[in-house]
Amino acid sequence: MSARETAELLLLVGRLVQADGYDGELSPAQWMALRFFARANSFSRTPSSFAEFQATTRGTASQAIKALESGGYLVRQRSPADGRSVTLRLTDKGHEVVARDPFDVLVRAVDSLNAQEQIAMRDALHQVLTTLAASGAHQHFGVCQDCAYLGGETYCDPTSASRSTIGCLLFGVPIEPHDVGLLCVHFQPKSKRREDEHCE
Ligand code: SF4
Repeated sequence: MSARETAELLLLVGRLVQADGYDGELSPAQWMALRFFARANSFSRTPSSFAEFQATTRGTASQAIKALESGGYLVRQRSPADGRSVTLRLTDKGHEVVARDPFDVLVRAVDSLNAQEQIAMRDALHQVLTTLAASGAHQHFGVCQDCAYLGGETYCDPTSASRSTIGCLLFGVPIEPHDVGLLCVHFQPKSKRREDEHCE
């Protein structure tokens, strides 16, 4: 099988999922935005991160976000840290809709592969995304469990006693176990950070 044939298969999967996104309630672009904000961590639930994730302009990204806000699927909040930056979160209605995401057809198709095939596919796609990011084309989003900045440290949580947990070495904050699998705009593939350190 040629590399072109594999790349075309990836494109075809993307097109089919996109076509499934027309369910009458939300457009494919709005589905992408809703999925992103459902899957993104607290550092990444911003309009600019979504534009980066979609590899699109901020104007195009903000159209989808505005439609979701006016439909009552998303709500924006001022950052408690600086009071200026904006983050978005799903409303109850947004969570209800995302629970019946047409994208689940693809999730079930992947789930029909055996565990070894799923791991091989995941690793191969990660490698492709890392290569694309290294070419400067697009930022590679990823999750804490695959990130070079994930560390095991003792962090002080002001709301409870100090405890040993996992944390983000970039921001120096603890990461709750349920946040480990969320998408992050600051993700750094493990191999990439090692290369950067090597070059310093
Ligand atoms: S460990 Fe990596 S993916 Fe997780 S919050 Fe920090 S930078 Fe983001």
